[in-house]
Amino acid sequence: MDFAKIKELDAESGMQNYGRNDVAFVSGKGPFLYDTEGKEYIDFGSGIGVVSLGYGNPHWVDAVSRQAATLSHVSNLFYTEPYAVLASRLTKLAGMKAAFFGNSGAEANEGAIKLARKYSFEKYGKGRHTIVTLLQSFHGRTMAALTATGQPSYHDYFFPFVEGFRYVPANDSDELKAALTDDVCAVMVEGIQGEGGVIPLSQTYVDELARLTSQKDILLIFDEVQTGNGRTGTMFSYQGFSVEPDVVTTAKGLGGGLPIGAILVNEKCKNVLSQGMHGSTFGGNPIVCAGANAVLDVVSQPEFLAGVAQKGDRIKEIILGWQLPAIKEVRGKGLMLGIVLDGLSPKKVAADVLKRGLVILTAGSDALRLLPPLTIGKEEIEKGLEILRCQLTLFTQ
Ligand SMILES: *Cc1c(COP(=O)(O)O)cnc(C)c1O
Repeated sequence: MDFAKIKELDAESGMQNYGRNDVAFVSGKGPFLYDTEGKEYIDFGSGIGVVSLGYGNPHWVDAVSRQAATLSHVSNLFYTEPYAVLASRLTKLAGMKAAFFGNSGAEANEGAIKLARKYSFEKYGKGRHTIVTLLQSFHGRTMAALTATGQPSYHDYFFPFVEGFRYVPANDSDELKAALTDDVCAVMVEGIQGEGGVIPLSQTYVDELARLTSQKDILLIFDEVQTGNGRTGTMFSYQGFSVEPDVVTTAKGLGGGLPIGAILVNEKCKNVLSQGMHGSTFGGNPIVCAGANAVLDVVSQPEFLAGVAQKGDRIKEIILGWQLPAIKEVRGKGLMLGIVLDGLSPKKVAADVLKRGLVILTAGSDALRLLPPLTIGKEEIEKGLEILRCQLTLFTQ
């Protein structure tokens, strides 16, 4: 089918809730994508941090297709090996004690919110149900996750929202301290705020956050939906801060292209979601878990993680070496980087480089965001960055 036909069908019958680019992709290989015209693109977006091993990774394809041919789905009324193995491996890698699998980031956060409230209710009774989150955060599109999202622009139209959320600015310990009143059961944060603009938390703030929450038995939830699974050069971003959360949620890169979300909990929270308290029909489906296990085979290797960190440092070094006035700052860690622009629209720049064969994301109102496949090579990184440099140079002549 050609592009015009695909677009026409989508316009006719798809809900027009996405502002799509005028490209339809038909295949991918490693860090490259190919559109309906056969044009090649370097992918610095990996489907928003999802395709962590790149397209068509043979190990992942083999694991997923074997599992699809063997046993596709049985429901959570029964045990399956891919589920049990994934739970065991992921909890160990995270330093956690138990795992639950759902199908998306928002869903993982919904579950974490339920878990935090039940933990607190059982221990302290009614009224201690408030969840504190950060301004500029993003936690998903379902009702509670959307309420948790600390961006006012998301809080229109869908009234009434879920009660019991409070927002504080990131990296402000005094505001945090003031917000942790007796009605609070949990604080939920991203180690690096992704959608909000690639805004990292500071080490001092995270230390203070860990101290204050543990002092008051307030659960510390790390939303690692975007930052997790090797993205920032450690398995999870909190490991880079050397703190231990009570609850971790993750999704995007975990399935390598298949939909999965996970809630991981420590010893204290292990038995909160007891039998019948939570569930999902598709969650932890054998095919999806087989894909996630294949992702872990690769990204859990210490040398691989060190490579992600090095690639990130190299990208920063290259971009800063351009000394372009259009670039204010490069933030983030590993292969989750934000290029803060000075006076340029990131959406416009992303659209322009797309025409030159580079897929790049945006974040917040002023940043380009890089989330390439973790397996991207040095050569493709340099090639992609060169496209970006050429485009940004146009604006500074
Ligand atoms: C993408 C994202 C979510 C939502 O994940 P979905 O799979 O789209 O529901 C939640 N939290 C963070 C930090 C994210 O980046």
